[in-house]
Amino acid sequence: MFRIPLTAETPNLFMSTPLFRSKALEDVLHRQPKYAEAPSSKISEFFGSSVFNEDAMRMFLTEDAFLAVQQAIHKGERIERKMADQVASGMKEWAASKGATHYTHWFQPLTGLSAEKHDAFFEPIAGGRSIERFEGSMLVQQEPDASSFPSGGIRNTFEARGYTAWDPSSPAFVLGRTLCIPTIFVSYTGDALDYKMPLLRALHAVDQAATAVCQYFDKDVTKVVPTLGWEQEYFLIDKALFNARPDIMLSGRALFGHTPAKGQQLEDHYFGSIPERAKEFMRDFETEALKLGIPVKTRHNEVAPNQFECAPVFEETNLAVDHNVLLMDLMEKVARNHDFRVLLHEKPYAGVNGSGKHNNWSLATNTGRNLLKPARTPKENLLFLTFFINTIKAIHTHADILRASIASAGNDHRLGANEAPPAIISVFIGEHLSRLLDELERDIKSRMSTEAKTEIKLNIGRIPPIQRDNTDRNRTSPFAFTGNKFEFRAVGSSANCSESMTALNTIVAWQLRQFKVAVDGRIERGAKKDEAILQELRELIASSKAIRFEGNGYSEEWVKEAAKRGLSNIMDTPRALDVWSRKEVKSLFKEMEVLSEREVEARHDIKLHSYTLRIQIESRICGDVARNHLVPTAITYQNRLIENVRGLREVLGEQEARTAVATPIRLVKEISEHVNAIIELVDRMIEERKKANDISDQRKKAIAYCDKVRPFLDEVRYHSDKLEMLVDDELWPLPKLRELLFTR
Ligand code: ADP
Ligand code: MG
Repeated sequence: MFRIPLTAETPNLFMSTPLFRSKALEDVLHRQPKYAEAPSSKISEFFGSSVFNEDAMRMFLTEDAFLAVQQAIHKGERIERKMADQVASGMKEWAASKGATHYTHWFQPLTGLSAEKHDAFFEPIAGGRSIERFEGSMLVQQEPDASSFPSGGIRNTFEARGYTAWDPSSPAFVLGRTLCIPTIFVSYTGDALDYKMPLLRALHAVDQAATAVCQYFDKDVTKVVPTLGWEQEYFLIDKALFNARPDIMLSGRALFGHTPAKGQQLEDHYFGSIPERAKEFMRDFETEALKLGIPVKTRHNEVAPNQFECAPVFEETNLAVDHNVLLMDLMEKVARNHDFRVLLHEKPYAGVNGSGKHNNWSLATNTGRNLLKPARTPKENLLFLTFFINTIKAIHTHADILRASIASAGNDHRLGANEAPPAIISVFIGEHLSRLLDELERDIKSRMSTEAKTEIKLNIGRIPPIQRDNTDRNRTSPFAFTGNKFEFRAVGSSANCSESMTALNTIVAWQLRQFKVAVDGRIERGAKKDEAILQELRELIASSKAIRFEGNGYSEEWVKEAAKRGLSNIMDTPRALDVWSRKEVKSLFKEMEVLSEREVEARHDIKLHSYTLRIQIESRICGDVARNHLVPTAITYQNRLIENVRGLREVLGEQEARTAVATPIRLVKEISEHVNAIIELVDRMIEERKKANDISDQRKKAIAYCDKVRPFLDEVRYHSDKLEMLVDDELWPLPKLRELLFTR
């Protein structure tokens, strides 16, 4: 008889038999690192070699075309059709020299992944011949058949037209054999259907607002660029183990699994040496990343076993975001060559740390200044304090917007879970700066009596030099000042940074605009410029005090204290998203020209919908695996115990066997209890799902999934994890958490 050989390499959801689990583990034990060769030992020799960067442009473009692209990048100027033809032709030549045969408009639809549709340069012409064609029109705009991307109702299917349009501020690159052109994705009516478009608008808003404020200090500042340095955390899992866990395969996280006896308590993985296989994988994907101009620099182990981090040098935000999306893609691709899968989920395993994506953020001027870097002279420090305090104030006023920007089903497991930033947004600035702000604030009160202008002048002189304060780092704060930048730590590991960066830059832009108006008002009323600025800053310090928190963000006291301060603590995604239906939030985004009301509503809808889908998928997998894999296994084992009881009675006789059968009988009963509980819970969960599915209002539906369906996941897990501890290890079908975490 012909039989398909059993191998853990073939993903097959119906094959997770006990044999399959042990086969998977065996496969892992026999893995060898796959040594990855870099093109050269000198990174500088291949860094950016797959990017149509300035050097490549100089080589492949005419001088006019080169200048046109530079103007488009730096000044946002339009590129004329004829010029676009020239750029396209140069780009095609360059791409061909890198082996590209196809091109694609690369964009970031609201599904959170990147999307591409490949077209060949090749085109047949008369006479059986063919040419390679790529014209300006193909570079500048495309109409992908993209009616299935989410649009939140903006793009009805009958007018299923979405357009991708070239974003020259992010350079084209060659990936494999394809020329990829970063683009925005908009509807026929011009509404944003992607992450990039609102981000570009937010960057523009903050540039304008910050430049206007900089003008108080330095007339040479004509452009302000937000910078972003992300730190990407992830887990690696062997592909055989991945294939043997339908839950991880389909939802990205383990829905079952008893916490292993050894977790991360010893912290022996953190900064320990990186396992050889993982190191080879990292080397390989870093090489690919470096070729694409992603300046990856640091790599190390993270707190949990098999958890790692990768971070590049910071870049201009739009580019940094594209690079992060690209890197996530690359990681998944390269991981396959090393028999790994990458888990970007925020919480793949209960009981050990989840993964985040810290967003280090600052503002840089065209004159080369980091606006969040304290300076030596008091005068320059007034500039620093202006941006520093306005940022704090922006977070204070709009904490809920920031909270919504990081909300996702995955991140819900992480926020407030005593290992990640809490769901309460607060700002940590360190002891030194706290004292400084407190002193400045006190002055505002004492000033009420002393009107003398000289006093105020002196105050400026009294701003002490500020030093970078590296020592006091507070890992529990979601938004921390780290010497020359703020670090937004609550961003989820699988998120597209655009969301948090759009939110942050928009609220900072809005705050800077208010600040400018207030300071101008003071000047009009007769105050000197520096006094006006200082007075306004003092008021901001006083009014934003509640958002500043230096203590332990994981503590129970902070939850109480935050409530007293009136800070929000929104624990789940559907409710965090409520901020998008607030009138003032819609008008803020409209005023800053980042999102129209329609776009806000569409985004809100899409986010709710994708939350619902996530929980729905998890709930289905949970039911399937519990009923089809775990319960039958438990019953098999139970039957063995029953056999055992019968056997003992047969051998020893009813009387003699009385003590001996006590234990198997107790186990039989325990197993029954858990099996019954699981079956009942799964039935009830399905009922709740049916009810939720009947709700047509997106918000109500998401809330039903959150409140009524989601709790069953934990309850079913509780009982199945108990079974895991009762059933013979040999029979258990799913690779256990200890195996997922420690087998390498
Ligand atoms: P850590 O101790 O957290 O590793 P680093 O100083 O090494 O701190 O920086 C962490 C990240 O912050 C890196 O990605 C780095 O590029 C980024 N970063 C540094 N300066 C800035 C800045 N001005 N703007 C944005 N990101 C920055
Ligand atoms: Mg960090």
